[in-house]
Amino acid sequence: MKLKEIGEFGFIDRIAPLGSIRASGVIKGIGDDCAVMSVPGDDYLLVTTDLLVEKVHFLLDWASPQVIGAKSLAVNLSDIAACGGEPLDAFISIAVPEYIDVEWLDGFYKGMSEIARQYGVNLLGGDTTASKGHLVINVALTGRVPVDQVLFRHTARPGDILVLTGPTGESAAGTEILLSQAALPEAIFLPLIRSHLEPRPHVSEGRFLAQSGVCNAAIDVSDGLSSDLGHICRDSGVGAVVYQDRLPQSPPLLQAASLLEKDPLSWMLHGGEDYVLLASVKSEGLQDLLASALQNGLFLIPIGETNDTGRMELIRPDDSRADLTAKGWNHFR
Ligand code: ADP
Ligand code: MG
Repeated sequence: MKLKEIGEFGFIDRIAPLGSIRASGVIKGIGDDCAVMSVPGDDYLLVTTDLLVEKVHFLLDWASPQVIGAKSLAVNLSDIAACGGEPLDAFISIAVPEYIDVEWLDGFYKGMSEIARQYGVNLLGGDTTASKGHLVINVALTGRVPVDQVLFRHTARPGDILVLTGPTGESAAGTEILLSQAALPEAIFLPLIRSHLEPRPHVSEGRFLAQSGVCNAAIDVSDGLSSDLGHICRDSGVGAVVYQDRLPQSPPLLQAASLLEKDPLSWMLHGGEDYVLLASVKSEGLQDLLASALQNGLFLIPIGETNDTGRMELIRPDDSRADLTAKGWNHFR
C-alpha cells in the first residue's frame, strides 16, 4: 500500500495507538500540536517537532538562508502557541547536501538565532549529517504551560464561537505568486510573499487565549482553515458553521486573486501555512474577550460557531449553505 492511499492523517491515525507505552505522565500523545507531559511543578511540558525538506517545503532560490532558518523555528513556535504555551528550548538537526556551503549554514543559524532571541528560546543541541539528496531540516522545540491553561484540539464544545487570530490565505497566495512568477505590483506581492516566507508565530495570542479562561480548544492553521477546523471538529466530536463574509479580508490577497483570476475564497479556506490560531471559545462574555484582546494589541476575529451536527458548513453571503470539506494540505495526497 502506498502512503497516498491513506494520506498523512490516515498514517498518523494508524500509528497513534502504538505511541503510549508508558502511560504515566502522558497528558496528550500523538494527535495534537504538541505532546503534553506532566512534570514536577505547576506547568505541563510541551514538545513539538517539524521537518522541512528542500523542494517539498522550500526552494533555495526563493529564500535566503536567514529566512529559512527563521521559518524553521517559527513553525514550531506556532505549535507551542496553539497549546497556549511559552517556548523554551530548541534542538536542530540538519542533513546537508554537498552544494550547501558553510556561509549558507551561517546565514541559516543567524536567522534562527534572531527569532530565537525574540522569543527567549535557547538552541540547545541537534545533529548534523551529510545528505545524499536534498537539504533536510528538523527542529524540535519544548515549551511550558500552566496545567490549568493548556489548549487542546479535542475539547471544543457545541455552541462555542470560532475565532481566528489573523487572516488566512495570504501564504497560499504568496506561494502561487512565487510558483507562477507572476509580475504583480510590489504593494500586492510583497506582503503575500512575506506571509509565506516570514510567518509570525502567534505566541502572544496563544498565551492570551490560554489565560482567558474561556478558550475551550485551539489549533494553529498550518494545513489550511478547512483542514485544521476539521481536526478540531473530528477530535472534539462537534460540527461547525463558518460565515464566509466574516472571514478576515486581506486587501493584497483580494487584489492578487483578481489580477491572477484565482478564487480568493479557496485560498482563505484551504490554503496552508498561515500560522494564525483558530480557537473555539465559550460564547458567554465574547464581547469582553474581544475588547480585552484589543487592549492587548491582539485581534480575535469571530468567523463561526461550533454545533452538534457533526458536519462542517459554509454560510454564504446570501445565507445559502454549502458543505465545507477539508481540502487543505495533506502530504502524499
Ligand atoms: P502539526 O501540523 O500541528 O505540526 P501534524 O499534523 O504534523 O501536526 O502531526 C499531528 C500529530 O501526529 C502530532 O501529534 C505529531 O507529533 C504526530 N506525528 C506526525 N508524524 C508522526 C510520526 N511519523 N510518528 C509519530 N507521530 C507523528
Ligand atoms: Mg500545528
